[in-house]
Amino acid sequence: MNLNKKQRADLKMKFGGHCAYCGCQLGDKWHADHIEAVKRDIIHVGGGKLISGEMTRPHLDTIENMNPACVPCNSNKSSMSLKAWRSLLVHYRDVQLLRDSTHARHLHRFGLIEIKPDPVVFFFETWRGEE
Ligand SMILES: [Zn+2]
Repeated sequence: MNLNKKQRADLKMKFGGHCAYCGCQLGDKWHADHIEAVKRDIIHVGGGKLISGEMTRPHLDTIENMNPACVPCNSNKSSMSLKAWRSLLVHYRDVQLLRDSTHARHLHRFGLIEIKPDPVVFFFETWRGEE
């Protein structure tokens, strides 16, 4: 659904103007994220290129099912559920970061970055409605 100006302004302030997920302060460029994705079918168009197909769950296209999200969070979450996205973030930390990034491995060896074993907590899960 296309939000009108007021709905969009209200949604941006749902968590005090912060991204629902990472908690960064939202600027002018931010996305209305569908918490439960409205699109589930991903179409492979060849050459490794994937595109989203038709809206397969249009009943989820409501403002109640939307969170304000920064562009990186919205694009990383894509059409994943919160549960799936949370496990992907844990996977980045526990498996991929030090395996796939030479730079991260060096910084880690020199004690310049620390990998925290903490659970992945989204900003909205602890937001208490201040501001
Ligand atoms: Zn974010």
